[in-house]
Amino acid sequence: ESTYRVKRWGNGYFDIGESGDLMVIPRYNEPNLKINLREIIDEMQSTGIEFPAVIRFHDILRSQVELINKTFRNVIEETDYEGKYLGVFPVKVNQMREVIEEIVDVGKRYNYGLEAGSKPELVAALAYNTNSEALTILNGYKDEDYLRLALLGRKIGRKVVIVIEKFSELNMLIKLSKELNVRPIIGLRIKMMVKGRGKWESSSGERAKFGLTIAEILNAINVCEQKNLLDCIQLLHFHIGSQLTDIRAIKEAIQEAATIYTQLAKRDVPLQYIDVGGGLAIDYDGSQSTNDSSCNYDLSQYVSDIVTGFKQHCDLESVAHPNIVSESGRAITAHHSCVVTKVIGEIHPRGTEFSTKKATGEHIIVSNMRDIAQGLDQTSYQEAFNDVQALKEQAIQAFKLGVLSLDEIAKTETLYWQTLDNIEQIITNLDFIPEELKEIPELLSSQYLANFSVFQSAADSWAIDQVLPIVPISKLNEKPTKLCSLVDITCDSDGKIDKFIGEDSVANGVPLHKLSADEDYFIGMFLTGAYQDVMGDMHNLFGRLNEVHIFSYDDDPKDFYIEEVVKGSSMESVLSTMQYTPAILAQSVKKAIDKKIQQGQIKPREGVNLIDFYEDCLSGYTYLK
Ligand code: PLP
Repeated sequence: ESTYRVKRWGNGYFDIGESGDLMVIPRYNEPNLKINLREIIDEMQSTGIEFPAVIRFHDILRSQVELINKTFRNVIEETDYEGKYLGVFPVKVNQMREVIEEIVDVGKRYNYGLEAGSKPELVAALAYNTNSEALTILNGYKDEDYLRLALLGRKIGRKVVIVIEKFSELNMLIKLSKELNVRPIIGLRIKMMVKGRGKWESSSGERAKFGLTIAEILNAINVCEQKNLLDCIQLLHFHIGSQLTDIRAIKEAIQEAATIYTQLAKRDVPLQYIDVGGGLAIDYDGSQSTNDSSCNYDLSQYVSDIVTGFKQHCDLESVAHPNIVSESGRAITAHHSCVVTKVIGEIHPRGTEFSTKKATGEHIIVSNMRDIAQGLDQTSYQEAFNDVQALKEQAIQAFKLGVLSLDEIAKTETLYWQTLDNIEQIITNLDFIPEELKEIPELLSSQYLANFSVFQSAADSWAIDQVLPIVPISKLNEKPTKLCSLVDITCDSDGKIDKFIGEDSVANGVPLHKLSADEDYFIGMFLTGAYQDVMGDMHNLFGRLNEVHIFSYDDDPKDFYIEEVVKGSSMESVLSTMQYTPAILAQSVKKAIDKKIQQGQIKPREGVNLIDFYEDCLSGYTYLK
């Protein structure tokens, strides 16, 4: 537990079983109901589902939707807040149909709605958010078609709120609502002065991409008043960035937004809703700090700050409490899915052993290296470390100058890594490790080759150094003895993960167990349900992963069933998206094989097998078998 911090980042959904297997607790606050992840993997293997695969826990998704709604409702009740909570899920965070269906289904009883940020997301939201009491909030830049779709939503009785991000959208909306004879519900997004904290802090401030300045807000109100649309301005919106690591940024934003809200309300703008956007962070590294991958608050503190912040401001200004809308996405979906894959090999800096036997007339560098290696003991390890480092440098120079032979450089390398290995064994038992020797474990660290693509399954780890928890599925009752970089199967040296949760900051290397030839070593990458699930790209044409959707039984939630298997990309499907026609590819290869058959270089039977194999590959999974 202290290595992988499962309980600290897991929000109560993960634990380590007595068997050392990773356990999933699919329902919030029901710690006795545990599913062994290893058993899910076994069942997947027995039904022929290939890895890597996404495992989606629908119960966790449902729990998170319930949790945010219940938390807001409880705090609202406890504080005598007079507005309601009407949250929305931002579709962009995970657009998968099954995810949206599940969220809408469990959200019905809370009038929980959807947020869309583009035309395709709106098209989906109009079809799925059928509850006329729930909000559909529209963000992002809009064209005429986007606005027409929104007004279509109003015509069919949906509470669609068009958030004006840019002044010109308002003029377009006024024109279209007159043309279509619908009264829109208008939201105004504030260009906030307060700065967010974390990787997305540029979402606020003067140079923010979205939102209206105070001057533009006042102008928008005047324009609406002139066009007899003032009563349509019902919502005030802000969003200061995703993954807000520091609760102080949230408190400051609430103060700014509440001041603007109350002042506008006092000018008789008939506002009814305050939309606090997204930003509720996830503690990816379990450090509860203001690291970029963590946060110094939890859901109840977040909700409390929002509700009490608005209550105090409104009471002070004698303004009615607004209904509260939030657009949390990351916090709703991150926990519910993970990527599971197998480690399929190890790349060790030591490589293969080479005989280091003394040869007559060998170079002094090699002899010196051997003497140090053989003379290493409990007293000489620090001196030995410095000496072998220097000798290795000298050996490289001598090799470049043609002074050391290929055999001699191979011997020097082998002796060097043997010595480092032996020094590491000595220092692991020491209470005090000299500073310069602390780099040895990293120097000796292995690269574990895992069957996945960072670009498909952990885009943020590559793009913005997001730390995602990586945990072996079994052996969690054994101390991991290897410090590894996890490299993927893309042909890109960027395709690796070597950052892991450290004591108080990000550490280099992922601690994993020694591989064994007769046992599969499965690892999971967790908290991938927000953004990662859907942002992946097609680097090397690996494409989407196989997916299983896991449900617990209501009468026995210790047991699970695979409700749905969504097939990942086949080779023909990824090639088709790049404009290839699989039948033409197969024809071309068949022609080449036929030619070789005619020339007598391939036997007909072998030719048939070859083309069958090529066609099987086309319809097969893109990842390694
Ligand atoms: N709302 C808006 C306008 C956003 O831009 C975002 C994401 O940045 C969200 C909601 C979702 O934010 P989060 O995933 O941090 O909850």
